[in-house]
Amino acid sequence: MKKGRLIVISGPSGVGKGTVVKALMAQDPRVKLSVSATTREMRPGEVHGVHYYFISREEFEQMIREDRFLEHAQYVGNRYGTPEEPVDRMLEQGYDVILEIEVQGGLQIMQRRPDAISVFIAAPSFEILGGRLRGRGDTDEEKVLMRLQQARMEYLVAPQYQYIVVNDKLEDAVSDLRSILRAEALKTEHQQHLLKEAL
Ligand code: 5GP
Repeated sequence: MKKGRLIVISGPSGVGKGTVVKALMAQDPRVKLSVSATTREMRPGEVHGVHYYFISREEFEQMIREDRFLEHAQYVGNRYGTPEEPVDRMLEQGYDVILEIEVQGGLQIMQRRPDAISVFIAAPSFEILGGRLRGRGDTDEEKVLMRLQQARMEYLVAPQYQYIVVNDKLEDAVSDLRSILRAEALKTEHQQHLLKEAL
């Protein structure tokens, strides 16, 4: 069976990357999302093994020592990492696997897996991003400003990504993401079998 593709998706908090990814998966059953491990507290509604594997700092460090992460990073005081084995298993099974991760982890994946497709999801503008963060209601102004500052740092790394998708209208962002995946599949390097006959 043809191996699946590894897809890194990053973007600032509030840009709606989770919603874009969910909508893409609803349209394409060949796409799966990797479940990360994290040391952060579980939020209401989150389920261990579904949204994250919620583990202790000790367990996280143990996993690093055992080299079980494809990448890992620190983000606002907590640690996050992608367990390698389940990702490779899904790729072997032919699924496209999405890593929805922050940019430090994204850079590690680009180094370690040069075949990975990388997409940065951007907001139409910083003003709109700020508006979306404030609109969540559960965030005080200090936190909003901190996230915007964090977003500026992430935008500095965005030029390293192969693609940038703007999440203005959800359906357009999903359609752009699908176009990227389609165009990648049409690359000559993935279509050599069509040329073999003539050679
Ligand atoms: P949250 O705590 O809001 O769920 O996630 C915070 C940030 O960590 C988000 O940007 C999210 O994409 C990122 N993140 C989630 N899982 C991973 C991971 O396994 N590795 C890295 N590097 N970042 C992650």
